[in-house]
Amino acid sequence: MAADVAIVGGGFTGAVFAIHLSRTAGRPLDIAIVEPRARLGCGVAYDTEDPDHRLNAPLQVHFVYPDAPDHLHDWYVEQGGPARDADAQGPDGNLYIRRGDFGRYVEAQLRAHSAGNASGSTIRHVRARAVAACRTADGYRLTLDGGQTLAARLTVLAAGYERPRAPPPFDGTASGHPGFIADPWNTTRLREIPADARVLVLGMSQTASDAIAVLLRNGHNGPIATVARRGLRPRAKPAGASGPPPDIVERLVRPVSLFTAAHGRHGTALSLLRTLRSEVRQAEAAGDDWTGPFGDLRDSVWEVWPALPPAEKRRFLRHLRVWYDAHRFQLPPQVEARIAAAEAAGQLSFEAARCESAASDGSALSVTLRRRGSGERRRERFDAVVNCTGPALRPDRSGNPFVANLTAQGHAALHPAGIGFSVDAECRAFDAGGRADPLLRIVGPPVYGAFADQQGAAFIALRLCALMPGIAATLQR
Ligand SMILES: Cc1cc2nc3c(=O)[nH]c(=O)nc-3n(C[C@H](O)[C@H](O)[C@H](O)COP(=O)(O)OP(=O)(O)OC[C@H]3O[C@@H](n4cnc5c(N)ncnc54)[C@H](O)[C@@H]3O)c2cc1C
Repeated sequence: MAADVAIVGGGFTGAVFAIHLSRTAGRPLDIAIVEPRARLGCGVAYDTEDPDHRLNAPLQVHFVYPDAPDHLHDWYVEQGGPARDADAQGPDGNLYIRRGDFGRYVEAQLRAHSAGNASGSTIRHVRARAVAACRTADGYRLTLDGGQTLAARLTVLAAGYERPRAPPPFDGTASGHPGFIADPWNTTRLREIPADARVLVLGMSQTASDAIAVLLRNGHNGPIATVARRGLRPRAKPAGASGPPPDIVERLVRPVSLFTAAHGRHGTALSLLRTLRSEVRQAEAAGDDWTGPFGDLRDSVWEVWPALPPAEKRRFLRHLRVWYDAHRFQLPPQVEARIAAAEAAGQLSFEAARCESAASDGSALSVTLRRRGSGERRRERFDAVVNCTGPALRPDRSGNPFVANLTAQGHAALHPAGIGFSVDAECRAFDAGGRADPLLRIVGPPVYGAFADQQGAAFIALRLCALMPGIAATLQR
């Protein structure tokens, strides 16, 4: 098989890449999306039918077309979304639609562009998993898991997050225990947990909240203990906090970011933190809250982060990332309410603690927990342990054979910050020798080392749009 463009991964990022390329390419292209899932456009985040899996931010900050901000809302209403999902509206008046509905929207957009697009390109789904890539004189030849090959001039890696891995001390024999669930995105495994099981959830991120919401909806009545080393949970928005800024696109594509325009350039993570704290104090003194100043920084990371030296980036990741994420990623209010009710009823607990050891104890797992800030240790038995510590971050240790192959062959390399891939501003992959390859682009979450926030749909879509003129020029040559 051959194609002009091979996109490896057909989740949100791969689908949106194909859509915008087909709209802007200077000539008809043959675009192949290599994706083992039956559906395109959904990926890990949106290929879910769980009614509690909702967008973690209002509908209006999720888009495929930055120039058509109402497109998703209009589609949702046209599809009868509000009638089907009466709970979608949060107390703040915003719509937090089901992630499955957003997946259907992206899927429908891709289908429409496959049927016809401005460049006359074809978009096809190659239902396979890519396992290896070999550089040729004019592109790459991919090997797929069925043994076929796909030769392409331009290869785009859009493989999303690395699957989560068992963290210590669960990475030894405990990882093979039937009660240990290493991958929290596997909701089938979550639903198999008996309703009265004693459950330990590792981590307090949004993923943990998703897992807890699934358990509670399934009628779980056993105790659920949630632990994280620093005990930081997604910080609830203060009552009355303003919603997402209406000018989100303009905020993210300014010539100079909001934060830099107001506070100048910062060379260290600490000076950024100090400036932010002082802004929050001023906002609070004026009767506002932290969400305004924090939002200004969040919408400026595309410029602030690349400017930090590598050592500062590593410092941020070591000391501040958990704190930043707790403010950056909020829960949909519907999930927040469900969790608060279980906590108030005494069924669900949160504790800053570290797991020191884990061992199989018959049908249960015996875990030694050490509470943060004290030497206090205790041993507890759990029937199920759900790993919500987050995706793996190093492509050079990837469990994804294609990603592992790219790094092992030196076609792509770890970012100096120690997370994700090293790419230039055009998402060209730097190879092991430091050369940027215009024929291998890496997009979406795997480039968070280079751009920081490549996780939200809005951030991803905007970056993809910005890449298109350069990509079209590469493909004209
Ligand atoms: C559980 C969860 C909830 C989220 N909720 C939100 C939200 O509410 N709002 C928001 O803005 N962002 C959210 N995000 C962030 C989200 O990751 C991005 O919005 C976006 O969906 C990322 O899409 P992606 O296509 O890059 O990655 P993914 O969704 O991970 O898709 C990658 C795809 O690549 C395929 N793939 C991987 N390896 C190969 C291979 N070797 N060969 C072929 N195919 C391959 C996979 O099968 C998968 O379908 C969430 C993320 C997660 C994990």
